[in-house]
Amino acid sequence: MKVGFIGIGGMGKHMSRRILEAGYGLTVHDLRKEAALPLLEKGAAWAGSPREVAEACRVVISSLPTPRSVEGVVYGDKGLKAGWKEGDIYVDMSTNSPSTVRKIAEDAKAMGVTVLDAPVSGGTKGAEQGTLTIMVGGDPATAGEIEGIFKAMGQNIYPVGDVGCGNVAKLVNNMISLACNSISAEGFVLGVKGGLHPQVLWDIISRSTGDNWCMEQYPQTTFRGHFEPGFRVSLAYKDIGLALDLGEEYAVPLPVGQAVRKDLEDTIAAGLGDKGVDAVILPLEEATGVKVRLPER
Ligand code: NAD
Repeated sequence: MKVGFIGIGGMGKHMSRRILEAGYGLTVHDLRKEAALPLLEKGAAWAGSPREVAEACRVVISSLPTPRSVEGVVYGDKGLKAGWKEGDIYVDMSTNSPSTVRKIAEDAKAMGVTVLDAPVSGGTKGAEQGTLTIMVGGDPATAGEIEGIFKAMGQNIYPVGDVGCGNVAKLVNNMISLACNSISAEGFVLGVKGGLHPQVLWDIISRSTGDNWCMEQYPQTTFRGHFEPGFRVSLAYKDIGLALDLGEEYAVPLPVGQAVRKDLEDTIAAGLGDKGVDAVILPLEEATGVKVRLPER
């Protein structure tokens, strides 16, 4: 089966490599051709536009930054839509707006093309190791047909309902995770200001009810002063915005989510938008004169 992949970024470069290594024929496209060079060296083919990807492959996957970039890839001048054939399958694995994905699915259906949304969790490390959690919205038979492709990228593959529901699951996950990220930063600054050693606090919370995935990353990130992405603040800001939009659509108040958005907004205003999400701690450290660090081992 020939697979197309669009968006060879922090996530896509690993996801597409794993598809290639699983034995599928791979055609790739990105705005930056240089991002695809390692894949081309391994035998992938280059396509100059999304349309060319759709023309070359029955199954096309995308991993793109924003709903707008996905819409551009589908509807643009040389977009996927211009190359779709009846029976094609398009899987958007970006973190996207459910309503954007549903609109694309509706337009595609009219052309005999099936759309799934399959956003992922597990970060760039999960992408590299093929251990992603994949939340699949859309036709189960189509998802079953391409299960081997999903298995090349992820370990936990969940069918979650209609197209768009993959992103509902993903946005709920990220809203919870980003709240943990912000509150862990506040907790550690408070604890260290209050006289605790960061390692002691970490050991206690790791074995207590405040334990969470974001804090578990601290030995590799915050404690070492290592704030490179991983998952960029700007992408996290996009995700919390999409979750709040969803809350508005379904009339569900999300006051904690609002506070998380403000925290990420302040972090971006401090010039840290391209850092990893753990960087939300930096403005608070600056304001309080505290550094939550451990000496290098
Ligand atoms: P990234 O910015 O590193 O990569 C995106 C890639 O898409 C870039 O190579 C960029 O050049 C390309 N691109 C952008 N617009 C394009 C267009 N119009 N046509 C072709 N290529 C285009 O982002 P990422 O971290 O790889 O994230 C990708 C998606 O996965 C996002 O939706 C993100 O929210 C989601 N996600 C990221 C992580 C993470 O830890 N980084 C984890 C889970 C989900």
